[in-house]
Amino acid sequence: MNDSPRRATVVVIGAGQAGLSAAYHLQHRGFTSALDDPDGTRTFVVLDANRAPGGAWQHRWPSLKVATLNGIFALPRYRQPALDPDEESRIAVPRYFAGFEREYALPVLRPIAVSSVRRVDDDPTGDLIVETNRGRWMARAVINATGTWNNPVHPHYPGQETFLGRQLHTHDYVSLDEFAGQRVAIVGGGISALQQLEEISRVATTFWYTRREPVFIEGHFEPETTGRETIAKVVADVEAGRPTGSVVSYTGLGWTPYAVAARERGALVRRPMFTRIEPHGVREADGSFTTLDAILWATGFKADLEHLTPLQLRNELGGIRMRGTQVASDPRVHLIGFGPSQSTVGANRAGRDAVSALAKHLNGMPAAS
Ligand SMILES: Cc1cc2nc3c(=O)[nH]c(=O)nc-3n(C[C@H](O)[C@H](O)[C@H](O)COP(=O)(O)OP(=O)(O)OC[C@H]3O[C@@H](n4cnc5c(N)ncnc54)[C@H](O)[C@@H]3O)c2cc1C
Repeated sequence: MNDSPRRATVVVIGAGQAGLSAAYHLQHRGFTSALDDPDGTRTFVVLDANRAPGGAWQHRWPSLKVATLNGIFALPRYRQPALDPDEESRIAVPRYFAGFEREYALPVLRPIAVSSVRRVDDDPTGDLIVETNRGRWMARAVINATGTWNNPVHPHYPGQETFLGRQLHTHDYVSLDEFAGQRVAIVGGGISALQQLEEISRVATTFWYTRREPVFIEGHFEPETTGRETIAKVVADVEAGRPTGSVVSYTGLGWTPYAVAARERGALVRRPMFTRIEPHGVREADGSFTTLDAILWATGFKADLEHLTPLQLRNELGGIRMRGTQVASDPRVHLIGFGPSQSTVGANRAGRDAVSALAKHLNGMPAAS
C-alpha cells in the first residue's frame, strides 16, 4: 500500500451543513477537486467520518420529525423540496444533503475519521498534517466543520455509578416507548431536554431537573432582531477567547408547541438539581428522595475538536480566540459551525466567510512545494 501523504490546498473536515457550505464556496471560487486534480494549485477535499451524507442529522432520534424542527436553512443555491412535516428529520434532511453533494459533484471522502491535525515542525507558516484512519493529507489550510454530535456533555454527580436503573444521554435517545410506565428524570434546560420531556411525559411520570431556573421568552421570537443580538453576544465571547455557553443560555427558551404541550400536561415543573444519585433514585435538594427507573441526561453537546489538540488552540480560559471564522492564533485554521455559527443558517454563512478569508490568506502565501 502506498502510504505517502496526499495533498490538498484546503482540507475540509466534516460534511454537515457547515462543511458542505464551505465545499460549495471553495468550488465556486475555482478550487478544484483534489481527487480529480491532485497536482492542481488550488484544490480541496472534504473528509467525513459518517458512512452516508447528512451530517449529524442521520443520527437524530426517529420522533424528531420535520415539524418539530425550528426550520432548516437551505444549503447554498440548492432549494429545499417541500418537506413532509411528518417525515423523520433523520431521513428527510440527509436526503436533501445527498442531493446537494450530487448536484455539485463535491469531492467528499467517507467514511474517513480525522484523528489529528498538527503543524510540520511547529512551523507557523508551513503545511498542516491531517492524520486520518485511512492515510495522511498535507494541506495549506484546514476548515474544521465537525459539529458537536460526537461530543455529548456528561456531567458527573455523586453516587452516579451506584444507580441501578438506566442512564442515557440525548445522543442515545431512541423513542418514548422505551419509557412507558416508568419514572424518568430528565436533566437539562435546553431545547432537546424540553422536546424529550414533552414526549416522555406522554407515557411516563417525569421529573425535570435544571441547574438554573429556565428562562422562557414571552412573545414572539424575532429572528432579525433577537437572532442578531444573540449572535453579537456569542461573537463577543469568541473574539475575547471565552468559552461559549449553550444556545439557550444566550436566547432563553421559546414557547414552542412542545413547550406549551408539556405545560398543559403538567410536566413543565422544574426541580433544582438533585444532590446525589442513589441505587434507586435521587436525593432531592430539600433532602427528600425520589424513586426513579431512568435518568435521561439531556445536557447538551460541545464542539467536537479533540483532533485539533496538537495545534494547542485553547487559551487559559479554555476558549479559542477567534477572528470571524479564523482562529486568531493560526490563520490557516477556520472553525465553522462553531460558536456563533452553530445553527443551519450560521453554518451556511460561516462556510462562505471561511472560504472568503482563506482565499485572501492563500493569495498571500507561496504555492505548496
Ligand atoms: C436535536 C437538534 C435539533 C436541531 N434543530 C435545529 C433546527 O431546527 N434548526 C437549525 O438551524 N439548527 C438546528 N440544530 C442545530 C443544527 O443541527 C446544527 O447547528 C447544524 O446542523 C450543525 O451542522 P454542522 O455542519 O456544524 O455539524 P454536523 O451536522 O454535526 O456535521 C459534522 C460532520 O463532521 C463529521 N465529523 C466529526 N468529527 C469528524 C472527524 N474527526 N473526522 C471526520 N469527520 C468528522 C461528522 O461525521 C459529521 O458528518 C439542531 C441540533 C440538534 C442537536
